[in-house]
Amino acid sequence: MKQFLFEYSDRESLDRQLIKIKQWCRSFMVSNILFTVYSSKLDKEKLDQICTNIKKIVPESSYVGATTNGNIINGDVSKSDTIISCTIFEYPSTKVRVLQYNLSQESEKNVTSALIKLTNEESWVKSVMILTTMRGMSMSEFSNDLSNLREDISVFGGGALSDDINNPEAYVFSSAGEITDHSVVFVLLGGKDFHSESIYITGWKPLGRELKITKAKDSVLYELDGKPAYETYYKYLNISNDDNFFHNTLEFPFLYNCNGISLLRAPTGSNPDGSLNMTSDMLENVNARIAYGDPWTILDTVRTEARNVMEFQPEVIHIFSCAARRTFWGSAQAGKETLPFQHFAPTSGFYTSGEFLRTNGMVNQHNVTLVIAAMREGDKNEFLTEDDFEFDDSQFTGQISMINRLATFIQASTEELEEANKKLALAYRHLEMTAISDGMTMLLNRTEIQNRISSAIKARLEKETEKDKPLGISLIMIDLDFFKKVNDRYGHKEGDHVLISLADMLKQYILINRPICSAGRWGGEEFMILLPECSRDEAVKIAEDIRERFSKLTFPHAEPQTMSLGVTEALSSDNPDTTCMRVDAALYNAKNNGRNRTEVL
Ligand code: GH3
Ligand code: MG
Ligand code: MG
Repeated sequence: MKQFLFEYSDRESLDRQLIKIKQWCRSFMVSNILFTVYSSKLDKEKLDQICTNIKKIVPESSYVGATTNGNIINGDVSKSDTIISCTIFEYPSTKVRVLQYNLSQESEKNVTSALIKLTNEESWVKSVMILTTMRGMSMSEFSNDLSNLREDISVFGGGALSDDINNPEAYVFSSAGEITDHSVVFVLLGGKDFHSESIYITGWKPLGRELKITKAKDSVLYELDGKPAYETYYKYLNISNDDNFFHNTLEFPFLYNCNGISLLRAPTGSNPDGSLNMTSDMLENVNARIAYGDPWTILDTVRTEARNVMEFQPEVIHIFSCAARRTFWGSAQAGKETLPFQHFAPTSGFYTSGEFLRTNGMVNQHNVTLVIAAMREGDKNEFLTEDDFEFDDSQFTGQISMINRLATFIQASTEELEEANKKLALAYRHLEMTAISDGMTMLLNRTEIQNRISSAIKARLEKETEKDKPLGISLIMIDLDFFKKVNDRYGHKEGDHVLISLADMLKQYILINRPICSAGRWGGEEFMILLPECSRDEAVKIAEDIRERFSKLTFPHAEPQTMSLGVTEALSSDNPDTTCMRVDAALYNAKNNGRNRTEVL
């Protein structure tokens, strides 16, 4: 693989370059020639002329192109508005095919399924490079659909833009189609000797605690933790909604979990209702964290993560870098994070409106990210000595003491706080439990079960106008039979044991059969069960079931015991007190009628 990279200045010099390429191709092995044309100017006439000249002088080649927010040539930001790269594939097995489809919300599904069908048939395809316009499109849906491509195909690319970041107008074009503002261009690359490796690098690091996206639709982020999203920027970072909003928030975009990886989403502006317009779609009920970007940390991350690219021994490197990164660095500095790649292979690319990459099978649209695609033909050279990335971070290293250390400090404090909060929540829950439960049996205490009975009946009475109508709320009251004898014969401890065994049985029974019921200790050896959504007849069955189960419990010393039960259902003419009195009377009847039985009133 060989690459010629040059800036476009005028038609004559383009022709000279093309002729030089043509001559070079005559003397070497050539299987495919692919031109890329990137231009930050929305000048169809000029782009058309470039395409015509390529077709005329190198007719056997293919070409693809996009308008951009700036171009990367030889690893650095290009000063020219238009750059051209010519990649020459040398291995006869390598194949290149260019496709272009009209792209709109309506055609998106057809486009992605056509590509999937084609690549399933063409087993040589190993990589798909994407150049696309994004206007009026949900790129998340497009990306999700592309995730159905054959598993072993890598996907990378970028969204077209222009020199004005706020102008939605952008073009793509190719030897397979026109210059248009509503198309996607795919470059299929593959063959047995073609290899590619693609990675993404952000360099932005999480800062502070996780926030839950409680309301979002498409690319509008409405609420975080139930509050207007803009408040987060104002509260934590004191960022006002003024002309600098985009730039200020770029230093602090959101890291957002999607498809198992962290994607960056930056706000582009805020709305009067406190919602934020984001660089692309965000999903609800996902956690996001503010991230911070500072030059030193970014370069340090790029240095570490770019090692994979170097080890791949690329022959050509393609970079799709977010336009937001160029804004973040400023044009004069933006090349700092890309220039070192040029040391390993000719490096070119452009500043995008969104970066595409397939990771773990899923195609994602990133923002504020560097997507780097490295390509090679043939095997790696085993004897190549390892080189390393050298970044010019000299002017930023002083800042490590400030920004990076402060972020580390915030991170450590956040973790400590989160830990303390967890402990507090546990302690609070314990306190809550103690306040409502009976210490010995751990059933509800009398106050709590009484409160629950009262609120259940009162709530139902509010809705009921008919007289003497059963409310569907039943009570079961339990009293152990001749319990004094257990205490007298076997001691108080054995008595306690019986009570605890009964309580455990009740808890388990309710948990399995009637989770919405509540069981409480009414006093001594008396218990009360509140059954909402339960008729009197059903309650009798449950009471009998409990009586039966209790009679089968065994204890260390005491023989199996029995209980008497009263059952009643609240009526619309009742109040909580009359209902409790009636269930008590039913229990009294059970005692009088010989114990070990259930009576209903
Ligand atoms: P009856 O069938 O008429 O209910 O006979 P009984 O012996 O159960 O009579 P009663 O209900 O009047 O007596 C309740 C006994 O329960 C009195 C008390 O010794 C015992 N008791 C109350 N609370 C506890 C407790 O927490 N632990 C133990 N071991 N016994 C208790
Ligand atoms: Mg009693
Ligand atoms: Mg008793």
